[in-house]
Amino acid sequence: MADAPQLTLRERRALRAAIVADLDRLDEQIISLARAFDDIVAANEQANTDDEHDPEGTTIAFERSQVSALLRQAREDRDALRNTLHRVDDDLGYGVCTECRGFIGVDRLLALPAAAKCIACAR
Ligand SMILES: [Zn+2]
Repeated sequence: MADAPQLTLRERRALRAAIVADLDRLDEQIISLARAFDDIVAANEQANTDDEHDPEGTTIAFERSQVSALLRQAREDRDALRNTLHRVDDDLGYGVCTECRGFIGVDRLLALPAAAKCIACAR
């Protein structure tokens, strides 16, 4: 892809910093979600509730599944961002739309560093 648009070094640095900041934020989120999940499980064990008949138990089960879903999402986001960082560092077509091979655009990348498609293809 000789004619593929390139990010400038400065843009690449700015994007890398944004990705690293997002990763830090996600790591913190994952830690606190994992802690919240453990707390819910511990509270559930302590209360020794019956999920089917105790309304409290139903709430705990719901909370647990909510936190578990958030945790899964945060881990997926983190994996995607780590992948993105790898693409930035190794110059593996970062910033090029996976669909039309056009340039994604710095503004969009800054807003959504893990974006793999340009705004037209993402619609
Ligand atoms: Zn595209």
